[in-house]
Amino acid sequence: MHNHAYIGRFAPSPTGPLHIGSLIAALASCLEARAHHGQWLVRMEDVDAPRTIPGAADTILHQLDACGFEWDGPVLWQSLRLEAYRDALDTLLAQKLAYPCGCTRREIADSALIAPDGAHRYPGTCRDGLPAGRSARAWRVRTDTGTLRWHDAIQGPQQEDVCAAVGDFVLLRADGQFAYQLAVVVDDAWQGVTHIVRGADLLDSTGRQIYLQGLLGAPLPAYAHLPVASNAAGEKLSKQTLATPLDARNPVGDLLRALRFLGQNPPTDLCGASLAEVWYWAREHWSLASVPRVRQQTIA
Ligand code: GLU
Repeated sequence: MHNHAYIGRFAPSPTGPLHIGSLIAALASCLEARAHHGQWLVRMEDVDAPRTIPGAADTILHQLDACGFEWDGPVLWQSLRLEAYRDALDTLLAQKLAYPCGCTRREIADSALIAPDGAHRYPGTCRDGLPAGRSARAWRVRTDTGTLRWHDAIQGPQQEDVCAAVGDFVLLRADGQFAYQLAVVVDDAWQGVTHIVRGADLLDSTGRQIYLQGLLGAPLPAYAHLPVASNAAGEKLSKQTLATPLDARNPVGDLLRALRFLGQNPPTDLCGASLAEVWYWAREHWSLASVPRVRQQTIA
């Protein structure tokens, strides 16, 4: 029986095929949902059209299937949800919580405001209205927060002052694309997602997302950020570091490798087991508490 008090999800961006790093997020989010008799959804985050690679979404779904994943309900495609993102932006605009910005990239880069991570922070030029002669390029959210605090089930207590750390961030980009931060919050709320299990590379986005949830009246999900897999050189596995795509011929080996990375200690005799046996073991033994409490870890 499904527990509607737990709805988890895996939300890949179709910018290339799954690699072991993305399999880790898929597996942990799925096992944690199943351990709670919850639902596990798959959402294709193809909102960023310029970064979407044709065919990658289908490849990802085939790879998940080949690894024995079973998701609940149909896949949600962000490219079909633009109206919902538009509605959320309109709601924020109507409440003066968002505003049009006419600044160019160059102007922002030339500003003297530096965020704690070294990036240029938006100086707030258009906060109180577009300067004369300027037209809107992007739409930003007004950030007037103090410090937000939340608990991460793996990484422990977290805090961020979004205004100081990133400033008024973009919701609709100058190229007409809705920002990931808005799409993810709108969709998690709409799908009733209660628990978010994903890579710790997204910990830096969580403050912005919690801030938007507050503005849009969306419930706060529970968060668990997994260690991100890095190669022997300490680089995060990604399409940029040319992580090898999963080889569909060895799903058992890939799942066992992901389980070991997640601190689950599968017995060595599972190497010769069937996919169903590996899943059975994983579901019986899954323990979020055994996942290493670090942000990054080398994958064996
Ligand atoms: N689509 C994002 C990514 O692949 C993940 C979003 C999320 O899990 O919130 O990096």
